[in-house]
Amino acid sequence: MKHVLNFINGVYSEPLGGNYFENTNPATGEVISLVARSDSRDLEKALNAAQDAFKKWSLLLQDKRSAVLYRIAEGIESRLEELAQAESRDTGKPITFARTIDIPRAATNFKFFAGAAAQFASESHEMPGEAINYTLRQAIGTVGCISPWNLPLYLFTWKIAPALATGNCVIAKPSELSPTTAHLLGEICNAAGLPPGVLNILQGFGAEIGEPIVSHPEIKAISFTGGTATGARIAQVTAPLFKKISLELGGKNPCLIFADCDYPHTLKQVIRLAFSNNGQICLCGSRILVEEPLYERFKRDLVQKIQELKPSDPSLAESRMGSLISKAHLKKVDDYVRLAQQEGGQVLCGGRIAELDGEFQNGAFYLPTLIEGLGPDARCNLEEIFGPVVTLQKFSTDQEALELANASQYGLAATVWTENLSRAHRLGAELKTGIVWINCWLLRDLRTPFGGMNHSGLGREGGWEAMRFFTEAKNVCINFGPRS
Ligand code: NDP
Repeated sequence: MKHVLNFINGVYSEPLGGNYFENTNPATGEVISLVARSDSRDLEKALNAAQDAFKKWSLLLQDKRSAVLYRIAEGIESRLEELAQAESRDTGKPITFARTIDIPRAATNFKFFAGAAAQFASESHEMPGEAINYTLRQAIGTVGCISPWNLPLYLFTWKIAPALATGNCVIAKPSELSPTTAHLLGEICNAAGLPPGVLNILQGFGAEIGEPIVSHPEIKAISFTGGTATGARIAQVTAPLFKKISLELGGKNPCLIFADCDYPHTLKQVIRLAFSNNGQICLCGSRILVEEPLYERFKRDLVQKIQELKPSDPSLAESRMGSLISKAHLKKVDDYVRLAQQEGGQVLCGGRIAELDGEFQNGAFYLPTLIEGLGPDARCNLEEIFGPVVTLQKFSTDQEALELANASQYGLAATVWTENLSRAHRLGAELKTGIVWINCWLLRDLRTPFGGMNHSGLGREGGWEAMRFFTEAKNVCINFGPRS
């Protein structure tokens, strides 16, 4: 059986406690590897390596750091197929999705922040005749990066790349459910010439290794992507330690469809935004709000399109829908659908576990599901399901659409579908989300601020936001002194 080890000081290492746990392919139920079950002892070892490496890495000229990051990007690209296969096996996601989205984006993350490393500059502020201030943006030290299972290497590298670009050393933890591509990243970093100890990857459970990373006083910043409850826990643990934190959390994203939208384009994109990666993307729309004159037509066409989507063997190039991440998550999603029915919702399509044959009969497959008849206060319209389940609600005015959209504690991303430019701008300003997409979804420019409001998180990632997060700003003020 393959062992997924820790990556510490540039070397693959057994967990010091000697314990492993099973990693399962959720599409088949087959155990595919044994994963290092790390604890605080592994963290101390990784931290020693990181603190040592920091002395040189943080002082390396930016173009040299940039060159290493470009080489890591090339390494990811050269092993794209192997990484995509690993991602698909760990998560049950369609291989085509992993090949075209997950892995290419992981390479792009490194390229983008390699460029940022070379371009990052700080400000100076002159006090005419008296003094000049300049800002130093210095690496923080050793930082922690913790990521979830839904877009494993994509989100792991989205944190690690800016942390390295700014001269920090990193202790990173992937999700216990998707350990393999993070494991392979170690080899790629070694081949790219990343000095030992600059990136250390610890595998294991949130409670056993995630929490020690978060609470360690020598780890000065935490960049976290995951669930809102975990984010709240991290905020609580780090507050008395005065750590910098960046929290990218859950969402319950509204999708506002107006009668004047470009109909074929909107219908096609709504299928994408609702069911990509089985709805297991924090940015997926899960509350679909449709203007009254369009409602019946849209509902009919949406049901038809959803019924064409069938979960299938994720290793097939034509598969567009694989399995959910685990049997436990499958049950959670199904429980929400039962709850929706108890709350008075009608299941228009899907609404049950999908049964596949042969090697997939033990997989975690769920039919894409559409529910109508739930009000904004129903739990299925308030809580994140994080699966292929969306609800449909009707509105009559722009104001009503806005109120329904904003009736959530989350505030990550909204989409608006309209050809009315004034309405688009107005809603862009009034929606309480960190991201608003007008007539598009998941169109990403990596320079833009990325993140959510309220229960969707704290802080922003992307572009200079990430570079600033991973640095301490220090002002140096030089007095010109008296004229001679
Ligand atoms: P979790 O919060 O369960 O886990 C995220 C990571 O945190 C995992 O690596 C987990 O470890 C670790 N962890 C768990 N407990 C602790 C702890 N006490 N201290 C430190 N680390 C801990 O989220 P999921 O993995 O289930 O991911 C799904 C969630 O992520 C959804 O809510 C989704 O919306 C959100 N998400 C947000 C995004 C955004 O950009 N806003 C993007 C993608 C997802 P382990 O799993 O190994 O136990």
